[in-house]
Amino acid sequence: MQNLTILGATGSIGTSTLDVVARHPGKFNIIALTANRQADLLFRQCRQFKPQYAVLLDEAAAAQLRLWVREAGLNTEVLSGAGALEQVSVLSEVDTVMAAIVGAAGLQPTLAAARAGKKILLANKETLVMAGNVFMDAVRASGSVLLPIDSEHNAIFQALPRDYNGDMASNGVRRILLTASGGPFRNTPFAELQHVTPEQACAHPNWVMGRKISVDSASMMNKGLEVIEAHWLFNAGADDIQVVVHPQSVIHSLVEYVDGSVLAQLGNPDMRIPIAYGLAYPERIDAGVAALDLFKVATMNFSAPDFERFPCLALAYQALRAAGTAPAILNAANEVAVAAFLDKQISFLSIPRVIEDVLNALTANAVRSLDDVLGADAEARRVARQRISSS
Ligand code: NAD
Ligand code: MG
Repeated sequence: MQNLTILGATGSIGTSTLDVVARHPGKFNIIALTANRQADLLFRQCRQFKPQYAVLLDEAAAAQLRLWVREAGLNTEVLSGAGALEQVSVLSEVDTVMAAIVGAAGLQPTLAAARAGKKILLANKETLVMAGNVFMDAVRASGSVLLPIDSEHNAIFQALPRDYNGDMASNGVRRILLTASGGPFRNTPFAELQHVTPEQACAHPNWVMGRKISVDSASMMNKGLEVIEAHWLFNAGADDIQVVVHPQSVIHSLVEYVDGSVLAQLGNPDMRIPIAYGLAYPERIDAGVAALDLFKVATMNFSAPDFERFPCLALAYQALRAAGTAPAILNAANEVAVAAFLDKQISFLSIPRVIEDVLNALTANAVRSLDDVLGADAEARRVARQRISSS
């Protein structure tokens, strides 16, 4: 029996995780489920999975949930606030933490889980983008098992040697090939991008995801964040990571070896595959996903990314090369810009402009501690909001 805490249980990754868990009665036990403020869905999940704890960040939503839980006669203890997210990530009875909160809010509970030596299923890529060295140091110090859930990184993890030691050269690895669907605007005439709506940006051709990551996919910032994520996970330099546009999203990424071999992981675009891989590692379990039908796929295409159409990707490479707090600044500016776009305050094409302005306005400093990261994050958010309100 594996005891789980699911951070971000009501989201796209969280609900897919519970879907896999429900397929394997007796294998997994839910200790805690958390969400931002979605009390109704969290309540339904509590009824089905009977966790010991349910956490809502929002105080009023937690009060509502507490009432429903009591009326239903459940033994779930309802907690609230950011501290409770950390509390349920470090409980001694928890073996594994699924980190599936969206954005910077996921950093501190995920880091707490790493410091406590939990097995971490990492969906929250922002943790690595913001605080890669702090987080990886914590993982190493505590001996945490870290399994990437982001489909590309999960594919790379599967294609690397099982005993990969974090040194590409000594493992015979030449390059990491990170695939990207290109998002919903891959072929949209550039002039039309000025007028695209949040609804259009969130309608991804291959994946169903939360709104923030959907916009990131449309701007290709998602791929930029994933380049930085791959850097930290696999100790790969910016020049060792090649983005490959592959619109079918069947190959989830590839590893190129010095002898010319290229190993890929393929599958239907369904996050339950990497989630099931992470949950059962090193075993394999049914993910509830239909077999890949290569005859139906028939054709696979590949092309180089277009850095002019998608400046966010170039900005992410720039931030990775600048190092220090630059990726945290990039991430914070992006979160503010995406929220403003979803709120119809700025246009889609303004997203990279805001981020570039913020990166230019602030100096990247070395990251020695979590406080350096949180300071850069707060400052970047302030400057980004200022740019947006004065534009
Ligand atoms: P989502 O928006 O569907 O769900 C986010 C979850 O986090 C929800 O449960 C929400 O209640 C919770 N949450 C939001 N803000 C919070 C806050 N401030 N404090 C505490 N909880 C909060 O997002 P998602 O699509 O499931 O993505 C989650 C993470 O996984 C993101 O980091 C994303 O980049 C990553 N990821 C997602 C996918 C995907 O297919 N959805 C694929 C790869 C990686
Ligand atoms: Mg991905």
